[in-house]
Amino acid sequence: MSAAPHFKKLALIGFGLIGGSIARGARLEGLAETIVTTARSAKTRARVAELGIVDAVVETNAEAVRDADLVILCIPVGACGPVAQEIATDLKAGAIISDVGSVKGAVVKDMAPHLPAGVHFVPAHPVAGTEHSGPDSGFAELFINRWCILTPPEGTDPAAVERLRGFWSALGARVETMTPDHHDLVLAITSHLPHLIAYTIVGTADELAQVTESEVIKFSAGGFRDFTRIAASDPTMWRDVFLANKEAVLEMLGTFNEDLAKLTRAIRRGDGEALFEHFTRTRAIRRGIVEIGQDSAAPDFGRPHPQLGKQG
Ligand code: NAP
Repeated sequence: MSAAPHFKKLALIGFGLIGGSIARGARLEGLAETIVTTARSAKTRARVAELGIVDAVVETNAEAVRDADLVILCIPVGACGPVAQEIATDLKAGAIISDVGSVKGAVVKDMAPHLPAGVHFVPAHPVAGTEHSGPDSGFAELFINRWCILTPPEGTDPAAVERLRGFWSALGARVETMTPDHHDLVLAITSHLPHLIAYTIVGTADELAQVTESEVIKFSAGGFRDFTRIAASDPTMWRDVFLANKEAVLEMLGTFNEDLAKLTRAIRRGDGEALFEHFTRTRAIRRGIVEIGQDSAAPDFGRPHPQLGKQG
């Protein structure tokens, strides 16, 4: 395996879950001589300075990227275009500019027109996260054994792509390259639709008249609880994801609605065979995810449980 790349100056615009995790991991692995960061609000910038993970916290995006040889936008998808425009003239020739947005087609379309010739644009999406956000939520291990998808536009300097691949590998990620459109289609089903379903079901339960709110909370371990984790994800981030990946999400939603109608019909008709066949197929998918090490096989996601006789 080739040695991890070393950057003289890494600039992180945005220091939330993802930016904060990159900073912590890059520091730990010694991937940059200097790490400079900024965030939109004075409050976040003050907190980042207090955390002491990076070398400098600066007030503006333009100041952060000056002389940086790797710039990563770790901000909501909808902010990437305007920020690219804002920093364009301050980017160093030969710098690699990347992002971490959960949608790639829209980000490429919004950022690319602003970027000067002579910088290498290599969009990226680490497929790793939690429902937490903000400067305290990150941790260095977030990307270990998770995928990071690179979507370099045609004609991108392969050496720049390799350097970014090496950077993400050093953070523990497995790296794959694909087109932005294919990324958006894959993520629509594996991430965006599950979030939409979780947001829907938690909202539906909240509006039910026949079941009280305290009952929903009390009996949540029946399955509802696992949706609430996803539905607690950051509202700004997810608003932007659905606006930016509209086409692919609508396509997957169409297929999902057809499948939901099939299951609805099976329940209405008392078709146990259809239900059993469907649930058997989905159980195999879960096993596949565990087998490739993308989740734990421990019961109840490995949550700790109190033991009888050991309480009190
Ligand atoms: P987050 O915890 O909410 O942090 C977002 C950061 O961006 C904050 O530091 C915020 O500053 C800053 N910011 C927002 N607009 C800005 C601007 N115009 N200029 C400079 N800084 C700005 O969000 P996150 O979860 O890290 O998500 C960031 C990106 O990662 C999103 O594009 C998301 O799609 C992608 N992503 C997220 C996950 C996940 O599970 N969360 C997983 C993979 C990829 P303030 O704190 O001052 O507002």
